[in-house]
Amino acid sequence: MPKWQNWSGLIEARPSSYRQVYSAQEAAGLAKRAAQTGQIIRAVGSGHSHQDLVGNDGTIVDLIGLAGVGEIDTAEKTAWIFAGSKIHTLGAALCTAGLALANQGDIDQQTLAGATATGTHGTGLKLRNLSSQVVGVELATSEGEVIECSADSSDPFLHKLWRASRLHLGAFGIVTKIKMQLVESYKLAETGWQATLDETLEQFEKLCLEHRHCEFFWFPQTDKAQVKCIDETQAEPSYPLAEEGSRVGWNYEVLPNHRPVKHSEMEYSVPFERAIDCMKDIQALLDKDFRQIKWPVEFRGQGADDVALSPACGKDVVTISVHQGAEEEDEPYFRACEEIFLSYDGKPHWGKVNYLNGEQMESLHEGWGSWWEVRNAIDPSKTFLNYYLRSLSD
Ligand SMILES: Cc1cc2nc3c(=O)[nH]c(=O)nc-3n(C[C@H](O)[C@H](O)[C@H](O)COP(=O)(O)OP(=O)(O)OC[C@H]3O[C@@H](n4cnc5c(N)ncnc54)[C@H](O)[C@@H]3O)c2cc1C
Repeated sequence: MPKWQNWSGLIEARPSSYRQVYSAQEAAGLAKRAAQTGQIIRAVGSGHSHQDLVGNDGTIVDLIGLAGVGEIDTAEKTAWIFAGSKIHTLGAALCTAGLALANQGDIDQQTLAGATATGTHGTGLKLRNLSSQVVGVELATSEGEVIECSADSSDPFLHKLWRASRLHLGAFGIVTKIKMQLVESYKLAETGWQATLDETLEQFEKLCLEHRHCEFFWFPQTDKAQVKCIDETQAEPSYPLAEEGSRVGWNYEVLPNHRPVKHSEMEYSVPFERAIDCMKDIQALLDKDFRQIKWPVEFRGQGADDVALSPACGKDVVTISVHQGAEEEDEPYFRACEEIFLSYDGKPHWGKVNYLNGEQMESLHEGWGSWWEVRNAIDPSKTFLNYYLRSLSD
């Protein structure tokens, strides 16, 4: 049996087969066969999730052959993009057409389908996560069909399917193509500086309101925060790109960073107005009980969206992320942080560590019931639910 592991190497699976697919029809054929034989099938992106979203003992499908930008509509500023495209391959291709993703995460190694599956986000109080920019989805279903749903679908079920599958968790089918709402291409200039944590927390709201992007890392056992703000610029790109914190370039050159050190991560989205108090509690926890942890805590403002199951659904948030080296024990630290995050009405990132069960998830997400209703209608055989997702649905 082949072995599969995620980016950090902390999650492993032994599927009975690992298949690379090159067409939507091929994906649909595999999905139908899995349903007929009672097996689970899950697609994999770049394996950058810290939660067991992919692992199963049936089939893992890699969309290596379904990559690239398809049809572009420059008037509507949209593009159909093949689901297996890595985000770092999209920037230059879209820029040639005068278009760009409105935002993206801290790294650009994820696939588009993998990133939208979990509500992957960047920073920016006036910006939203990648799932909120999905205006159409093409899916290979467990019935062996390839179907399309979009914001424009007149069929009520297809419209509901589009709404739910913007943050899809791989649970509706194999996503083969995604239509993204884009914006005009833009250039960015970055500014980074060090300040004390107290000063930074005091200024954070103002910085978020004044800048397109704002975030900081706080280094435990110190009072130091590394702050970064990014704004649109008319300045010409400057190559070779400078270090993180002082780059000037196109959006896709400035937004992603290099984060090579293997780690695990927990991230919760906390209502914007409660985030500073929450951060102070995390700081106190690290000072008191986890003095050995040196990994920084990341603090990022993000705008509200309308995506079911999104941690930012309906409210502006700050995402607070805690990290631990892949070789080191993370559970006691993460569980203690989770208790604090939950006490501030936090909601976990789907692609990062959390210890919640289905009942707890349901209590956090208003759209939980209708999301599962649509999912169960499109995949009644549960072919696309691995053991982790089954544990949430039971
Ligand atoms: C170093 C690092 C930095 C990160 N930075 C950020 C960040 O800045 N912001 C943020 O929000 N997150 C961040 N993440 C988390 C990451 O963006 C998410 O976990 C994302 O979902 C990973 O995408 P992937 O392509 O690796 O997907 P995978 O982890 O491989 O899969 C994620 C989910 O997508 C499903 N899936 C993938 N492809 C398909 C498909 N074609 N059809 C159906 N389902 C599919 C899988 O089944 C699974 O459910 C980071 C992670 C790492 C390791």
